[in-house]
Amino acid sequence: MTTRTGYVWHERYAWHDTGTALGIYPAGGALQPWHAFESSESKSRIAGLIEVSGMLDALERIPARPATRDDLLRVHTPEHVDRIRALSDDRGGDGGDGFTPFGPGSYEIASLAAGGTIAATRAVVAGQVDNAYALVRPPGHHAVADSGMGYCLFNNVAVAIEHARAELGVGRVAIVDYDVHHGNGAQSIFWEDPDVLTISLHQERLFPQDSGETTETGGGAGEGACLNVPLPAGCGNGAYLAAIDRVAVPALRAFAPDLIMVCSGFDPSALDPLGCMSVTAAGFGGIAARLLAAAGEICGGRIVFSHEGGYSPAHAPFCALRVLEALSGHETGVGDPFDLSFGDSPAHELRPWQDEAIAQAEQVAQLLRTA
Ligand code: ZN
Repeated sequence: MTTRTGYVWHERYAWHDTGTALGIYPAGGALQPWHAFESSESKSRIAGLIEVSGMLDALERIPARPATRDDLLRVHTPEHVDRIRALSDDRGGDGGDGFTPFGPGSYEIASLAAGGTIAATRAVVAGQVDNAYALVRPPGHHAVADSGMGYCLFNNVAVAIEHARAELGVGRVAIVDYDVHHGNGAQSIFWEDPDVLTISLHQERLFPQDSGETTETGGGAGEGACLNVPLPAGCGNGAYLAAIDRVAVPALRAFAPDLIMVCSGFDPSALDPLGCMSVTAAGFGGIAARLLAAAGEICGGRIVFSHEGGYSPAHAPFCALRVLEALSGHETGVGDPFDLSFGDSPAHELRPWQDEAIAQAEQVAQLLRTA
């Protein structure tokens, strides 16, 4: 039986304009204008390789439709939504933290990114496809209820989860976020919600620098439905796969969600300018295969990947392709060219200090399970 993997991409995603910046920081003074790391390059090139490799022919295209204002308001405050819309209708502006620039028309594009994640979720929940990858932009996982943050305007995955709970009869949902940055947005949005488990694997104290510790486990009724795996800089495939096997998958089993949403960021890549990790395409493929197997065992295979960060235009396409190979079971024969440089690196062995960090998160996960 062949797997039907849904795929969302719209050229409009590439037209979200983040302007000139010195990578992260607004240009000016001693900061020569360049471009934001979050530019269309890496995502367009992922879409390009998906087509050129022949992967596209093995996927089922799911049309992206904009999220409605009601969809956005299930997660975001009207003030935030209206502010982004007004700035977007004018000349653009900033998402709210000073590091989230956008140009004219980005309200519609961000709505299409949230809507693309909704469309992928609807297709999976309805059984039209077995699993799905929404290659959307701008990303979403840093956006909180009342503000954009870290390149994110609306929290795409949170908006899709609330849509699924309100309109598709979905009950419990788990998020697994392997972007190199902390999934602070979903953590804050679902902090007191016992029916949404947030699991974030990230480089410790990277962004936001003051969140993502193992001590953050949810609040109120949501206590125990939040799990953080802060990893020391320098982790490669070994540490990431160990963290998935020892922390994320057992937590998913214990929580028993109806649906798994994945915040898929390729910034743990060995070549990423914003992270200090060393994951290769093989590592990302291994993560995806494990999460897919867990979904098969736990929730009838219902799993939706929504694209987040990943700022190496050279490497991200090969990492994403390997994830799609894992989801669809279709092998393109296109390898990771950067394996020549990083494939046999000792960075892929699980080092004692990495093992220690994972063991700590493992302990928290066990406590949460028995609580
Ligand atoms: Zn990121």
